[in-house]
Order: sequence, then structure tokens, then C-alpha cells
Amino acid sequence: MKQAYISHPETLSFREVEIPIPGPDEVLIRVSRIGICGSDLHVFKGKHPLVEFPLVQGHEFSGFVEALGENVSDLFPGDLVTVQPAIGCGMCDRCREGFVARCDTLSFIGGALPGAGSEFLAVPARHVIKIPEEITPDQAAMTEPLAVAVHAVEQAPNLKEKDVLIVGGGAIGNLIAQVARLYEPRRLIVAERVAFRRNILTDLSIEVIEPLSDAPIEDQVRRLMGKQPDVSFECAGTASALNACIRATRRGGHVVVLGVYEDDPKTEMILVQDKELTLTGSLMYTWDDFHGAIRLMEQKRVSLEPLITHHVSFDNWIEGYRLLMQHPDETLKVIVDL
Ligand SMILES: [Zn+2]
Ligand SMILES: [Zn+2]
Repeated sequence: MKQAYISHPETLSFREVEIPIPGPDEVLIRVSRIGICGSDLHVFKGKHPLVEFPLVQGHEFSGFVEALGENVSDLFPGDLVTVQPAIGCGMCDRCREGFVARCDTLSFIGGALPGAGSEFLAVPARHVIKIPEEITPDQAAMTEPLAVAVHAVEQAPNLKEKDVLIVGGGAIGNLIAQVARLYEPRRLIVAERVAFRRNILTDLSIEVIEPLSDAPIEDQVRRLMGKQPDVSFECAGTASALNACIRATRRGGHVVVLGVYEDDPKTEMILVQDKELTLTGSLMYTWDDFHGAIRLMEQKRVSLEPLITHHVSFDNWIEGYRLLMQHPDETLKVIVDL
């Protein structure tokens, strides 16, 4: 089978490898769709602080069951599935509570473990989730980023009647906005630099602002809301976005940090202390968040199609990276089709 791998930054090569034989507790999946994630781009550029080369990417994906290990009984060949790619030790307290992302020995499909960038992939059966019938392979490949959004919203206090700011309207910021509004906040505003991404949010009836040098985010938001937001989500991964959240959020409020920073951001800690802000990191999801994401899709409570702006073929995967790096002004989620 063909496998796409990254041996060093900014290259993507293909090689022929054996189709894996699933172990007794594994499932062999014929990969169908792979979403390209912002974190994949950091890795591709060689800027992700915690990942080593070489690697096979692909942690947001869907596919069809091809073969089952002998101990696997609850799936059938041809089932549309997705995979929860964060694999904890399964034994520590945090794993047992479902907080896999907090496991000290966490490994990740598409990171340290080979990702979906192959025609076939064998994965532990307990990480394979059957997708309900009304969900398409494209949507199923969006389960993982949607679970990231579900988790981020869980990290904040209940958003009902709250004022909410989201800085960064890429795929994750967009999905957080869609999940957050299900909690019926009083007002929810997304700050996004790129008009194309603002338009996608506007089409979803989400209020947007454009950060401007003479009208910083915190000023625009305070004017529109008539007060400062209770909760902010940092979804851009830049120091300026993080500090905009810190400045904008009311005293005693919460800032949830999702950005993956290419350079360690200089943070306005003086304000964090002075305003008694709670700064919370958000990484990946719990098992409940992952299943919650599938329920949201099944109940059609979120719109995923408007986020998928491009499809590229497996052979042309590198074009997806290029689009995201060079044309963020016309790209949101790129899906690789196998
Ligand atoms: Zn991702
Ligand atoms: Zn663990």
C-alpha cells in the first residue's frame, strides 16, 4: 500500500509498505478522508515543539472497516468509522477518569504513532467508533476537531447567559463558536483577521469583528457587549491573540487557551494577577467529549460542511499544506481524499 510520510520539515514523500495485519484486538481501516489540522501544519513546518521526525500524519480521519482482529466483535467490514487518536496508558488515574490527554505517557496516532496517511491503518479496536448512518465520511473526519471544541467549552464555566469572546475564527474557533452557542450565551463574538473566515462565521449567524490597529479587540468587544466578556477562548496561537483575551476578559473571568504557539508567547501576567483571571489550557478531549461530538453531528446541531473549503487527492496532499500556509485568506479545512 502507499504511505505518505514526512522525513524532515516541508517535505512529503510516498513509499510502498506492507498492508498491516490487525492484531487480535485491532481493526484494519481502509482510510477514506483525512482532515489537515493546524497542528499538522506546525509539524510540517518543523515548528511544533513536541514532535519528532520522521512521521506519518493524519489524526482527523474516517474510513471503512476492512478487517477485524479475532477478539473484535462489535464492528463489521464496511462500517464507516472514525478513531479517537489519543492513546493513554489506560491505567493511571487520569486515564481511568477518561482524561486521556492528561496521561503522562500519552501517545498520538498521527504524532508519535503512525497516522492515517496510508491506504490502510491498523488501530486498537477500543479507539474505533462506528459512525451513525446519517453522517458522511467528510463529516466523520471532522469528529476530532469537533471534540476539541466540545472539550474547550467544557473547560469554561457554563456559558448560559455569559458574554463570550473567541479570538481566532479558523476551524477550531469556528467549531467552538458553534458549540458555545448551544449553551445560550448572552452574546458571543468571534474576532478574526481574515475576511474569508469571517464570512463563513457570518453565514452561520455568528457575530464577528475584525481586529484593527486603531480598534483593538478589547475595545470593540466592550463597545458591542456594553461590558467585558466573562469567558474568552484563544484559538489563534499567537501572543497578540492571547494578550487580547487577557485584556478583554472581565475581572475574575476565564481565558481558555487552545493555541499551539510556535514561539513561547510573552504573556501579560501582570493583568492575569491583577484581574484574578483563571487561565486554563485545553488539549484534545476526553472520551465523553469525543462521543459528545458524534452526538452533535448526529443531531445536526452543528454545521460542518461550510468549514470544508477544499479537497485534495492523496497524491496531492502537499497541495493542502500549501493552500493552508499560503492562502489562509481562502482556506479553512482541507480534506485529503483517498
Ligand atoms: Zn487536529
Ligand atoms: Zn494514563
